[in-house]
Amino acid sequence: AGGEILLSVSNLRAGYGRIIGVSDVSLTVRAGELVAMLGSNGAGKSTVLRAVSGMIKPLSGRVLLGSDDVTGRRSDVIARRGLAHVPEGRRPLPRLTVRENLELGAFRARGADLRSRLDGVYDRFPRLRDRADQKAGTLSGGEQQMLVIGRAIIGRPKILLLDEPSLGLSPLLVSEVFDLIRGLAADGMTVLLVEQNIVQGLKVADRGYVLSTGRVVGEGGADELAADPALLTSYLGSG
Ligand code: ATP
Repeated sequence: AGGEILLSVSNLRAGYGRIIGVSDVSLTVRAGELVAMLGSNGAGKSTVLRAVSGMIKPLSGRVLLGSDDVTGRRSDVIARRGLAHVPEGRRPLPRLTVRENLELGAFRARGADLRSRLDGVYDRFPRLRDRADQKAGTLSGGEQQMLVIGRAIIGRPKILLLDEPSLGLSPLLVSEVFDLIRGLAADGMTVLLVEQNIVQGLKVADRGYVLSTGRVVGEGGADELAADPALLTSYLGSG
């Protein structure tokens, strides 16, 4: 992994009113990479993703998608430029069917284009094909997580931001979701993953950034980070 730079965040500062969630974060993600952002609760990981995807406006700093400056643009504009964000705890719309939920992510695709996009998602998540006409609210927690990821990738994004996709899942489902993420990356999807589960996160990632109180305090190859217990225990608690 490691083509051209797809996402470049420099000196990002962002927050909520008087609360500064992120004071100075710089990071890059190259085409085909799976990059993990690690850090304890409140370190600012989700805030970085929100500021990158346009859910909140950065106070300062720059967000580039390729060479395209999208700093402060609206989330729908950023989505159309090829960035998909699955926020923490995102659920599908429970009263819509699996297929209807997927169609929401397919922008304006219709006809043969829509069918081929749906087939692409169903090939990756066969369980969603079996449940295409079932209401999303009746899916298991793990299936709902697959559906929200499916809804993000059906738009064929250049880069996918995933915020704690394993949160609240049973251990069996956690490894299933990580297998899926690994499969996406193996097929060339570029991913920026926020993960509380450090061991799993470093197992699937190529590189990682460690955040603490709104700053980057460590970065490196996933193997390098996994072999640095001092870094992990000082910033991430037990690890
Ligand atoms: P977690 O794993 O707990 O989600 P995180 O690393 O993603 O942690 P953030 O959610 O980015 O951390 O939070 C960074 C800081 O911003 C924290 O101090 C948090 O309390 C604050 N914060 C996050 N969301 C909001 C919000 N909607 N309103 C006010 N403050 C917020």
